[in-house]
Formats: sequence, structure tokens, C-alpha cells
Amino acid sequence: MAKATEIEENNDFEMGNPYYCKECKRNHTKGKIYKEHLNFAKFENGDDENNLDENIKLNNDDYDDEVELIEAFNENDNQENKIEVENQLEDDLDLDREVDPNIGESLKECINAVKKLPGVGEATLNKLIKAGFSSLESIAFTPPKIIQEESGLGEKTTEKLIKSSMEQLHIGFKSAEDVWEHRKNIARITTGSQELDDSLGGGVETGSVIEFFGEFRTGKTQIMHQLCVNVQLSEENGGLEGNALYIDTEGTFRPERIIQMAEGLDMDHKKVLKNIIFGRAYNSDHQILLIKEAANLIKERNIKLIVVDSLIGHFRSEYIGRGTLANRQQTINSHLHDLLRLCDIYSDLAVVVTNQVQAKPDVFYGNPLQAAGGNIVAHGSTIRVYLRKGKGEQRIAKIVDAPHLPEADAIFSITENGISD
Ligand code: ADP
Ligand code: MG
Repeated sequence: MAKATEIEENNDFEMGNPYYCKECKRNHTKGKIYKEHLNFAKFENGDDENNLDENIKLNNDDYDDEVELIEAFNENDNQENKIEVENQLEDDLDLDREVDPNIGESLKECINAVKKLPGVGEATLNKLIKAGFSSLESIAFTPPKIIQEESGLGEKTTEKLIKSSMEQLHIGFKSAEDVWEHRKNIARITTGSQELDDSLGGGVETGSVIEFFGEFRTGKTQIMHQLCVNVQLSEENGGLEGNALYIDTEGTFRPERIIQMAEGLDMDHKKVLKNIIFGRAYNSDHQILLIKEAANLIKERNIKLIVVDSLIGHFRSEYIGRGTLANRQQTINSHLHDLLRLCDIYSDLAVVVTNQVQAKPDVFYGNPLQAAGGNIVAHGSTIRVYLRKGKGEQRIAKIVDAPHLPEADAIFSITENGISD
């Protein structure tokens, strides 16, 4: 393996290629970057660092062994050691380590289902799991090329695996009645505002990507914070009894806001902070990697909500000039599809993203403000909510483009305790 420092500027994230991360001042290899960043994640505000260490260091301790193990696995060329590490990885995947027993059980079940696929031996299973394909769904819904690249398995094997996963999951045509059965099971997270919930058809729904777009200070980031708290509520209280994964591209995540919001709901803020897994994305490549890595955490960490605040920011600043527009749109498109795929795989997962608006100088009629990212984002997200400012702490949300919701205005407020009517 080449030394990462030798190709410091290399932005080409091929599997196994080392990447020098300027933020951590360390070398990463693809597949490990996310977990490492969890350890190095920091807030821009130095004061917050203590909070992070104490509260949101995300109880990474149980991950450390695994990271070390994978590190050893990647970097050790010695065959004997490799086998030893492989066995240890197997032991580790038995999940006897301390994970919430319920979550451990369900992950174990998923892995067992993969293990039972025809032609899956120990080696194949290890490759799949290491690349994050630890359930039938994750195999069935991922394009074959991606599985091949990430796991190192051959084309034929991959095709067979996808085909048999699809068979096991009975994927194919189904009746509208079945679709309705599925939609009836959609769960919702309350935003904290009854009016906003109503306009969304009962809250932020699982199985969809929901985009909140608007100008600066219209409350996008506040809503993201609130959802991370609310997803942890019991189902009767409008939550999903799950945890949140927060991808922050702008450095605006504030644990102190989470604490205020948790206290507003009489929740134990320490617990609430612990249940939010935080990743700071430093550039668009890193953002894409974080989402790819997120797939590994969803089952294991009982993630029911993924937040990306904001979706387009990095892409916008990195791809400057019209010359690179097509390239940018293509990259955004594939990133959005990664998110949509997660919703397909995990039907009890909600994904919310924010988007800045930009003035479109050639519009003379109507609202000249348009969500960044253009049509690609519009077509990729299932529900779009346009936010604008009202009087004082009031904000107005308008649902646009939702396949099943009327375009209605909802008024909500941002208070010290978070989002409310
Ligand atoms: P953006 O759409 O740019 O992400 P934000 O979600 O950061 O906007 O919203 C910022 C607004 O949230 C501020 O203008 C303020 O009105 C409100 N806000 C932020 N923190 C508090 C707080 N502690 N108490 C009351 N309102 C707050
Ligand atoms: Mg913001």
C-alpha cells in the first residue's frame, strides 16, 4: 500500500486508497474514515469540545476494538495474521460485545439471513459484512457495481447474491393493496409544531427523503436539531424510540441547543446527546463517504433518523463555474441516490436534508429564490418543504412537490425550547 502522505492531494477515493485527512492530520483508508472521524469529530467552537468528549463521544469505546481490528486487517499483509484477524472478526461479529441486546439480536438475524444465501461461505460473508452489506435488503437494493467495488467480490457472485436476496425478500411487482399496506405502516416523527406536522401529513415520515429548503436563518438547522431529539420520544409522544445520525457540513451543530430542546420535553439531556451520532463532513467527498459508512451503523445503533445539514453546500463551493456543472449534478445525483436507497432498505428510517436557496437572476415572475442543486435535488427528494421568515420568531413552511400532500402553508415558531406552534 502506498504511503498516504505521498498522495496527500489525491481525491480519488478508490477502495483501499489511503487518503490524508488534513483535519485529523491522519491517514484514512476508505471504509474506516467514518469511525475515525467519530473520534476526531469536533465542533468549530472550542468550548463545545468538552461537551463532545463527555456527552457525544458517542460511546465509541465499543467501536475502538473493531476499528483496530479492521485496521489490522487492511494493513497486515501477513497471511497467518490475516486468518487470525479474520477469525477474531468473526468472533466479534457474533455480537457478544455490549450492544443493546435487542439491536444485537436484529443485526445477528440479518447476518444469519445473508449467511444462508446459496454460495455464501465464511470468506464471502466476511467480505460482505466488512463492506457494510450485512442484510438481504442492503444487497438487494444496491447496484451490482457498487457491491463489487466495495466488497471486492466478482461480478458473477454479486449477481447471484442480488438475485437470491431479491427472491428471499419477494421483491418484484406487487398489488396496489400491498403498497397501501406498506404505506399504512409508515411511521412519523413530530416536528414539535402541530401545524407543521399536519401539513406534512402527520410529521416527518419514514421511508422518504425530506428536504427543508429556505434562506439563511429560516430555521432549517433548528428543525434538524429538534427532529434528532424528537425521534427519541416514545411512539405515543410522536417519536420512533430510535437514535439519530447527524451529518453536519456547515459546523452549525450545537449540543447546547439539543440540551435546551431535551429539557423542554423533560427528557434526560445526557441520554439524548448520547443517542445522537455526529459526523462533521469537511468536504463533499467526505460527506459522500459518511453516508456510505452510515449504512453500517443503522441497524447496530438503532438509527431511525439521518440528518444532512446541508446537502449541497460543499458541492456548491467546490464545483465552481459552469464548466463543472454537469459533473457536479452527477455527483449530487449519486449522493442523493445513496440516501434514497437507505430509505428503501430500511423502511423505518427517515432521512431529512436541508438546502440553501439561491437567487435565480433570470426569473421575473414568482419567487426568484430557488433551492440549490436544481432539478436533481427536486426529483431526488420525495417531500420538499420551503421555509420563509414570518414576524419575529414565526416561520412559514410550505409543502411543495409532495406526491400526496396539498400545497399548504403552516406557521410555526422557534423558541428557546425548540420548534413549537
Ligand atoms: P438556517 O435556516 O440558516 O439553518 P437556523 O435553523 O440556524 O437557520 O435558525 C436560526 C434562527 O433560530 C435564529 O434566527 C433564531 O431566530 C432561532 N434560534 C436559534 N437559537 C435559538 C434559541 N436558543 N432561542 C430562540 N430562538 C433561537
Ligand atoms: Mg443552517
